[in-house]
Amino acid sequence: MADPPTREDAPLQCPRCISKMRKQRSSRAVIDHCDKCDGNFFDEGEMLAVLGKSADPEIWARSNRKFTPSASDINCPRCHARMVLHPLAHGDIEVDIDFCPSCGGIWLDGGELDAVMRIGARQLADASRTKKKSASKAAPDSGPALLGEFLSLFPKPK
Ligand SMILES: [Zn+2]
Ligand SMILES: [Zn+2]
Repeated sequence: MADPPTREDAPLQCPRCISKMRKQRSSRAVIDHCDKCDGNFFDEGEMLAVLGKSADPEIWARSNRKFTPSASDINCPRCHARMVLHPLAHGDIEVDIDFCPSCGGIWLDGGELDAVMRIGARQLADASRTKKKSASKAAPDSGPALLGEFLSLFPKPK
């Protein structure tokens, strides 16, 4: 049986500037990136795969007292459902990410990715402090190596 291109292989259209997005592959995920506006789309689970538990939307919701989802102004590039703005905060860093309630995809504008990674780094630091205190033997499913790989996907243009 021939291998027709799947939906996953077709380039997605950027919901912000309508240009075709480019696939960025790592060992853990394929992320759709827009070279024009620097936006990024993560299919469900991809962000978790590259960032570990700190990228779990349920953890974001729990750690954010002000959690109040509201309608976004863009549609999901994967399934075209209206996305929902999901506020994410840690200390003085605050960002509204776009989350698709239909397929679980996540859209990050260029600057949002930076903020999410800083929040992720702080959560990793929190997690390692907690780990030392409780001396838990559970294997961590996120760590600096994961964050490093995630960062390497998005080289800063010089
Ligand atoms: Zn774009
Ligand atoms: Zn979707």
